[in-house]
Amino acid sequence: MTLSRSVSAAVLARDARYRRDIADLTPKLVEIRRDLHQHPELSNREERTAKLVAERLRALGLEVKTGIAHHGVIGVLRGGKPGQVIAIRADLDALPIEEARDTPYKSRNPGVMHACGHDAHTTVALGVAEILAKYRADLPGAVKFIFQPAEEGPPRGERGGAKMMIEEGALDAPAPDAIFGLHCMPMLESGSIGYCETAAMASADRFLITVRGKKVHGAYPHEGVDAIVTAAAVIEQLQTIRSRRIDTQAPLVLSIGSIHGGNRFNILADEVRMEGTARTLDPDVHARIEPLMRQILKGVTESHGASYELDYERIVPVTVNNPQLVAQMLPTIRRIVGDERALAMRPQMGAEDFSYFANRVPAFFYFLGVGNKAKGITAMLHTPDFDVDEQCLPVGVEVMAAMATDWLEAAARRP
Ligand SMILES: [Zn+2]
Ligand SMILES: [Zn+2]
Repeated sequence: MTLSRSVSAAVLARDARYRRDIADLTPKLVEIRRDLHQHPELSNREERTAKLVAERLRALGLEVKTGIAHHGVIGVLRGGKPGQVIAIRADLDALPIEEARDTPYKSRNPGVMHACGHDAHTTVALGVAEILAKYRADLPGAVKFIFQPAEEGPPRGERGGAKMMIEEGALDAPAPDAIFGLHCMPMLESGSIGYCETAAMASADRFLITVRGKKVHGAYPHEGVDAIVTAAAVIEQLQTIRSRRIDTQAPLVLSIGSIHGGNRFNILADEVRMEGTARTLDPDVHARIEPLMRQILKGVTESHGASYELDYERIVPVTVNNPQLVAQMLPTIRRIVGDERALAMRPQMGAEDFSYFANRVPAFFYFLGVGNKAKGITAMLHTPDFDVDEQCLPVGVEVMAAMATDWLEAAARRP
């Protein structure tokens, strides 16, 4: 491990103290993670999980608020010295997936599984709360723990997640000056941390296109308007957004995943409905997708004598890290896991509603290695075989606790 020349003896002593305490805490971390893993709850249904989190935070002496955006929990740890506020966000919900791996901690809730590792995220944040609570007298400022429900998206017809937590005051009183979050990453071996300097996760939008024509006998197409031929032209033209309208250096995915229209072989369809998704890593590109789609839809449908409707929903913005904050925290990550385990990564095309926090507060969202090829833990997120190497838990706590402490101390030193 290469140590930065400027690390003080006091910081190294604190690292050693945290590391020793986290080693003692590890059996409890594993127990908490297994308890959460065995009792996964779907988005906006995280009742038991929220109760467990609130009880632990109260036991540690934090100021706790519950019931934010349904089952959200916030815990504030006030340090013994004045200073700024750092927030740490973890998500609580699980997915409607039947777990395939046979482990002693397999899900006991049929058809529901922590397949995105939010059980590990919650466990790491609780572990950080425990370590920092022990040394709260030394902390300049406060740590705000935000436990967020419904990251995977609320059920249809319901509201929830990061956006709703913010609307209900998650970033007020105290208002954090920066925020950290992490996500499990099975492509990285446990013990390592992955990071992106700016964009970390993509935006995710959902759209529904309805192309309307005029129904006639299939033998007399000139008497009607064929919604199917129009829809075919629309699909082709939409792909020119990617190939001809957006800078080739900016990643963009525009996919139509479902198409339905027509009801008989000899009748021209009067309506075609298409559903799809658009994703990008560039907030400027994100803003342009819908207007470009409308331009194409208008032009193509008009030229066919048809019409259209577009229902465009921006679900999650791009998750963009604050580059100065990343640069500030990288030495901490390298100090804890070692230079060779602090890995620069390409951004992920998956989406994260942590982006709503990152749009409001300087943010750093990084990836916690949870894979272990030797143990056969390699399955991707959102699959029935997903698991984490539990050795990731103490690493996750150590990195986050050191980052929060370093950040607060640096903020307190600033004039
Ligand atoms: Zn997920
Ligand atoms: Zn997730």
